[in-house]
Formats: sequence, C-alpha cells, structure tokens
Amino acid sequence: MTPDELRALIRTVPDFPKPGIQFRDITTLIGHGAGLAASIRHLAEMASAVGAQKIAGMEARGFIFGAAVAVEMGIGFVPVRKPGKLPAETIGIDYALEYGSDRLEMDPTSVSSGEKIVIVDDLIATGGTAIAAARLLRQAGASVDHALFVIDLPDLGGADKLRATGLQVRTLIDFDGE
Ligand code: AMP
Repeated sequence: MTPDELRALIRTVPDFPKPGIQFRDITTLIGHGAGLAASIRHLAEMASAVGAQKIAGMEARGFIFGAAVAVEMGIGFVPVRKPGKLPAETIGIDYALEYGSDRLEMDPTSVSSGEKIVIVDDLIATGGTAIAAARLLRQAGASVDHALFVIDLPDLGGADKLRATGLQVRTLIDFDGE
C-alpha cells in the first residue's frame, strides 16, 4: 500500500483531547491488516537503510510500531517508558509540554555504547517527546541519528526542531494543521 492509501486509513477525530485539536487516530490503521503490515514494512525499509542495530519506541503508540519494525528486521527493541514502570535501575529525562511537563525513563543497560538506535513513533507533533527520547538514549551511550514516524504534522514544526538537534527525520504521511 502507498502512503496515500495509508493516509486514508487514519481516522481524524475533531476536538480530542481538547477543542481545536484534530486527533489523528491510528486505531483504524492498525486494525487494518494490510495497512498495518505496509506501515511496518515502509518503516523497516527506512530503518534498514540507515543501519539500525536496535529500534527504540516511546510508550505507548511507539511500542506498537517500534516493536513490529524490530521484529520485521530481526533486531532488538528498547522501550522508552512513562515514569515508574521499569523495575530495575533507570535513567530519566523531564521535558516541557505545552502545559506542564512530562518524563520518560529507560533502562540504561538496554543499549550498548555506540549502538546505532533508530527511534520509531506513531506521530510527530511538536517534537518534544522525540527530542527527549533521543537525549535519554544518548545519555545511555547509544548513537542516535535517525527518527521515523508514521505521521507528521508539519505545521507544528516538530520535524524541523528534531533536524536542528542533528537528527535525520523521515515520515510516511503528512497532515495539515494541528
Ligand atoms: P510531540 O511531543 O508534541 O511531538 O507529541 C508526541 C505524541 O503526542 C505523539 O507521539 C502522539 O502520540 C501524540 N499526539 C500529539 N498530537 C497529536 C494529534 N494531533 N493526533 C494524535 N496524536 C497526537
């Protein structure tokens, strides 16, 4: 399936979670067998082309795509989690949201020094989450140069912000607006 066919499988829910936001809902994409498989294949081709040794994904929708890409490539997956979920020693990073802040955590032993990690997530909006994940993975010793997303909201400028931090960004589908 082409990216345009995949776009048609994404449902837009207006005013969720608050007025003015057009929520790009992947539930309808991942519920479509051929659409899910094609999304994973596209992302895995991109990750292979840049020599990924492991995939990292952010909780929760990044786990769906990231883990499947890792399986498709036969490589490992690194979960970047919401706070308080991991049982062993963790490292964490706080980052700003539009209102308030959030935190990501990971097990620093889940990557080796210099290991080439590619970040995968469902959607890039402001880029805050992905920038924080890249910082955290680098703090753990990984080499992080690439981030892949199913959906880009280019009007929010997140991909450009990621590029400004030295990450190369590739996305499958664009949507105008927030
Ligand atoms: P950000 O840190 O702003 O790039 O946003 C990161 C996460 O917020 C994405 O991975 C999505 O899961 C979620 N998100 C933000 N905006 C939207 C939207 N318009 N539709 C669906 N998910 C969104």
